[in-house]
Amino acid sequence: MGSSLGLYNYLIQQGHHTTVITPSDYPDFLTWMPGNEEVVIYTDNKERSAQLIAEADIVFCLDFNNLSRINEMGELVRAADAKKIMIDHHLEPEDFDDYRHWDINACAAAQLVHSFITDILDNKKLINKDVATCLYTGIMTDSGSFRLPNTTSSVHRVIADLIDAGAVNYRIHELVYNSASENRLRFLGHCLSSCLEILPEFNTALIVVNKQDLQKYDVNTGDTEGIVNYALSIASIRLAAFIVERDDKVKLSLRSKGDFPANEICKLYFSGGGHRNAAGGQSSASLQEVVNQLKQILPEYKKLLIQ
Ligand code: 5GP
Repeated sequence: MGSSLGLYNYLIQQGHHTTVITPSDYPDFLTWMPGNEEVVIYTDNKERSAQLIAEADIVFCLDFNNLSRINEMGELVRAADAKKIMIDHHLEPEDFDDYRHWDINACAAAQLVHSFITDILDNKKLINKDVATCLYTGIMTDSGSFRLPNTTSSVHRVIADLIDAGAVNYRIHELVYNSASENRLRFLGHCLSSCLEILPEFNTALIVVNKQDLQKYDVNTGDTEGIVNYALSIASIRLAAFIVERDDKVKLSLRSKGDFPANEICKLYFSGGGHRNAAGGQSSASLQEVVNQLKQILPEYKKLLIQ
């Protein structure tokens, strides 16, 4: 949302007719961003989205590099006559684009939107407060609040530029991290007290959440975001997994420390992918089967996990 709304707020200044379409809904803690009220959620507006994609001159694909990542929308984008521009930092891009600004060393797609505007389009003066606010948010969230290894000095320089351009850093942190609902906090407590399993022999922690838990705490899509990091915050833990039973599938979020390849597990076993330290995937098996499968995979990675 940070990269998309950052680019949106840049493009509208030049009179372009621009619409941000997301494949699904997104967490409440992001809905304050400038331009949010104009966002079209595909699952709620399929016809309108299809028309917008079919009639577009340019489709920017932000923060993904494989059309399957945007579900049904992917085939609409593939079929569209529009020029497709990929701005992304994930590994192994699919070859569907006409132009790409792609760098796996970037900590966030929002960082690449910044370099796209400043270096490639040479239009830094159009990074106004709204653009800066959205890009700051994208970089902050994707870099784990400037903690992950890819938070280089260049990232901090970009952040300094964004603050100079009007992003109010402390306010953005407040809006994103101190805006939880009571339910979200009680749900987090439940996850940590009742759903956390530690596998000391593999330095691994699992948080497994079933549908009943989601219903009991009235959990929205975004309310589960970031909970996996609590499991990873245990000193000995090198791999943490958050496994949740959604309506039609089981979704996994993996996080790791150091050089442990969380994305390899997601790619090989759970139709997913991502980054080395932050990856995700899914399965159509039952929640218990997915948990068992993950546990069975761990011995294969024992050497990396216990070093
Ligand atoms: P999260 O755990 O927050 O859902 O995702 C973490 C990272 O893994 C993100 O970079 C995201 O792009 C990637 N990821 C999550 N789910 C999937 C998936 O189903 N397929 C692929 N290829 N990547 C995923």
